[in-house]
Amino acid sequence: MNVPAIAKSTFELLKNQPEFMSITQTVVEHLNKIKSSLERARFVHNMVDEYNKEVFSHPLLKQFVPCKSGCTACCHTQVSVTDDEADLLADNISNGIEINYERLAIQAAAGNDSSAFYKIPYQDRKCVFLDENGACKVYKDRPSVCRTNAVVGEASQCATDNGPQGAIRLVKTSKSDMTIVGSFAVATTSGTLPMMLSKVLKEKNAVENVGSIRTLFDRIIGRKSVPKDIEL
Ligand code: SF4
Repeated sequence: MNVPAIAKSTFELLKNQPEFMSITQTVVEHLNKIKSSLERARFVHNMVDEYNKEVFSHPLLKQFVPCKSGCTACCHTQVSVTDDEADLLADNISNGIEINYERLAIQAAAGNDSSAFYKIPYQDRKCVFLDENGACKVYKDRPSVCRTNAVVGEASQCATDNGPQGAIRLVKTSKSDMTIVGSFAVATTSGTLPMMLSKVLKEKNAVENVGSIRTLFDRIIGRKSVPKDIEL
């Protein structure tokens, strides 16, 4: 289970408090009853949004949180998603959202290894769903983790131009974090967005460019090219 670090630490802190633990249990119970992966992902996103509303509407946030549209620092970091969220992102691609497959392959080759990810040049670390104006192309269906990120202090703390992010203080989104833990607990697989998305695209063979993803993977990891008629 690749539970995002912040959600995991919130869970460790609050797992003995019934009010919070019941949130994780409710999520697990509901997700086990929903058959469609897209519906499961959207169920979690709606819950996270509802809990975030309580937190992000606090008047002090305007004063202390510098996050604003066009700031893309956290879209150059490693984002973890569940298999359901990866399906939802792949569905957006099937419905016409365009991404840069070369960048996806470069990022996916880092797998879940954050030190390998931060060795990738900054421009190539840009999330494949970030557009040229710094907006998220899948905003409505963006992963849970992207919904909870709000830093307290200076925006410059989030910069990763020269390597991994330093220590930052995030707005506490405890109920959303407990929801996220529930979703990762139920997930069959989870991992970084590029790795999970590449996997789904390959499995579904959903786009013409899958072939070029494979070639790029082979080149990056130094594997001999696989003949076209052999499935990876
Ligand atoms: S999915 Fe959207 S919000 Fe999340 S990292 Fe990518 S561009 Fe940013």
